[in-house]
Amino acid sequence: MSLMGTYPPQAVTFVKGSGSELWDDQGRRYLDFLGGLAVTSLGHAHPEVARALSEQASTLLHVSNLFGSLPQRELAATLDRLIDSGPGQVFLANSGAEANEAAIKLARRWGGRGRHVVVSAYGSFHGRTLATLHATGQPSKHEAFQPLPEGFRHVAWRDADDMRRAVDPTVAAVLIEVVQGEGGVNLAGADYIQEVRRICDETGALLMFDEVQTGLGRTGRWFAFQRYGVRADVVTVAKSLGNGVPIGACWARDEIADAFKPGDHGSTFGGQPLAVSAALATLRVMQQIDAPAQAEAKGAYLRERLSELPAVRDVRGLGLLLAAELAEGIPAQPVAAAALEAGLVVNAVTPTALRFAPSLLVTNDEIDEAVAILAGVLQ
Ligand SMILES: *Cc1c(COP(=O)(O)O)cnc(C)c1O
Repeated sequence: MSLMGTYPPQAVTFVKGSGSELWDDQGRRYLDFLGGLAVTSLGHAHPEVARALSEQASTLLHVSNLFGSLPQRELAATLDRLIDSGPGQVFLANSGAEANEAAIKLARRWGGRGRHVVVSAYGSFHGRTLATLHATGQPSKHEAFQPLPEGFRHVAWRDADDMRRAVDPTVAAVLIEVVQGEGGVNLAGADYIQEVRRICDETGALLMFDEVQTGLGRTGRWFAFQRYGVRADVVTVAKSLGNGVPIGACWARDEIADAFKPGDHGSTFGGQPLAVSAALATLRVMQQIDAPAQAEAKGAYLRERLSELPAVRDVRGLGLLLAAELAEGIPAQPVAAAALEAGLVVNAVTPTALRFAPSLLVTNDEIDEAVAILAGVLQ
């Protein structure tokens, strides 16, 4: 074995995908209800994304960001329109962690020395680089990598009083997920998010939404924060942006983004033509199919069908980012493993809950089939 052991041993090897289906190296078919962890929102091998990639691959793969390449501005303009929080600017990166790194650096650049602290919530997940790891509110993940970069503070999730206490004049920004994805698909209520917005308005701290998992239609809105009628100062996106091609983006309102000057930040690959062509095709299709409406409708159906299972105690989440809390005494990990054996890909997002993040184009028939597989496993 020549791969570093950062992941547990892998039970299956996938070699092909189409829509919501995957095939392994033994020719077995699976239904993919995890979507590469909320990545393949248009399903596997979407023809328009494939066409855009192949055209771009034979036109221009890469140039340095020292030079212009055509579609970056179009991508930035589309994101700006969908985020809809006032005119803003976009930095293009290669992943969610990099998008959040850009947000954290921007917050520090904007705040200046002495106002550099980033506040995030316990239970959050913001990435694996040293800074985003420290922003991630899971102390068990920190321990082996101490010392971590200074300037991060954690607050109790959904506790507005704790947030108010934490946001002092040294705080540049609050970084928050509207739904904690990796943390267990835990929703923040409207009251909490609106109160956090008020705290940021009163103190002048930036409100940065990490929409890496929730963004681009999955929760039934283009971005989850839009459910609560608040404005964003900074938004990060990645997972589904390229429908499987690595790309991330950090959007910020003009007044904030203007803090970045030439030389402050950069990336060799960020915004390169191949990744941008995938993102443009993905966003074009997402707008054609009305991605938020798809997620809302399919999500309601999946939620209803999952709720019918006697071994499911509760279903939580928004749109097509759902978790099924299993009945007392049923551990999620063995259920996910048995589901995989039975041809359904899901994951145990907590020891007692399964996560579902299928393609937004999943059909009701595929949902029925997936729920039937799960029902069989749970019996
Ligand atoms: C997955 C995720 C990240 C990290 O993205 P990578 O592309 O793995 O670096 C950051 N924030 C949230 C909310 C995520 O779900």
